[in-house]
Amino acid sequence: MKSRLWTLVTVCVWALCGMGLPQAANSLPKIVVIATGGTIAGAQPSASSYGYKAGAYDVNSLLKAVPNLDKLATITGEQLASIGSQDMNDEIWLKLAKRVNEVLKSPDTDGVLITHGTDTLEETSYFLTLVVKSDKPVVMVGSMRPATAVSADGPGNIYNGVAVLVDPVAKGKGTLVCMNDEMHYARNVTKTDTTSVQTFKSLIRGPAGQVHTGKTFWWEPMDRKVGSATEFSVDGLSKLPRVDIIYAHANMSADLIDAAIKNGAQGLVIAGVGDGNMTTPALDTLTKAAKAGIVVVRSTRLPMGIVLRNNEVNDDEKGFVASGELNPAKSRVLLMLALTQTKDPVRIQKMFEIY
Ligand code: ASP
Repeated sequence: MKSRLWTLVTVCVWALCGMGLPQAANSLPKIVVIATGGTIAGAQPSASSYGYKAGAYDVNSLLKAVPNLDKLATITGEQLASIGSQDMNDEIWLKLAKRVNEVLKSPDTDGVLITHGTDTLEETSYFLTLVVKSDKPVVMVGSMRPATAVSADGPGNIYNGVAVLVDPVAKGKGTLVCMNDEMHYARNVTKTDTTSVQTFKSLIRGPAGQVHTGKTFWWEPMDRKVGSATEFSVDGLSKLPRVDIIYAHANMSADLIDAAIKNGAQGLVIAGVGDGNMTTPALDTLTKAAKAGIVVVRSTRLPMGIVLRNNEVNDDEKGFVASGELNPAKSRVLLMLALTQTKDPVRIQKMFEIY
């Protein structure tokens, strides 16, 4: 009699508590985490040490360090690279993009989280937003403090990143970057501070929204073409065209422009002074280069602002492209992809207006 009473009490408590319990594990969204290295996987000799080695921990160790992640989603992890993102290159970009496309094709995957170093995260995210052919969400996270640091920011960023992925609103927005409680569109975000945790900013447009302890608040819509809506594809691509960035300054000569072209650059992005300006010798050399079929994009070395077409420089006459809102690093990504389709500066200018 006593034991039957206990069974009844246990069943009632279970039923009552069940209302507040998370979904059963197998009905949770399925997220694949692809790790590439970076400070988020970095290890210091001791918690108070200054230096560290990026990419020392593997994907499973990163996931284990995040409390309650298994309540948000069913997660599987894979290691694609273990590098500091200063070593990111075209080969890994192509491998990563192809893998993300493959994983998202599966009906068993609802979204992909990518862990990445912060140095080139803004470039990788823009590359992915242009070539991932799925509406399912892709979120990239990194950290400014190594995994072993006091107040490491990686686990919080991973938790929030997965929370964004399981939010149905994240669908169809291209690749998002989730750092320091904010969500950013890949196209808009840039790293602004060498070491602070509040380094990622969408300087011109502001963040896409906020994500706090797993709760999302969306602010800005995405008005540019991303993912399946772009004309770019990595299918069958084994190489990307070479595009170099050249930094403008007082007394700039044309020597580095000549060197870049001599070494095989098919496109050049100028991190110009002011509104994409440069010295007369640099301008003259680039005018000749553009006539010879090198695609020249004028961007700016300034952190903010729009590089206007035909403002101080006559782009129509010279056959140049104006970068608009895109900084030099992002202009380089778009120009590389553009060159897989065309060398026509007029068509490429259009791409800078729609992507
Ligand atoms: N150098 C590191 C990297 O980009 C910095 C970081 O992850 O914060 O991999």
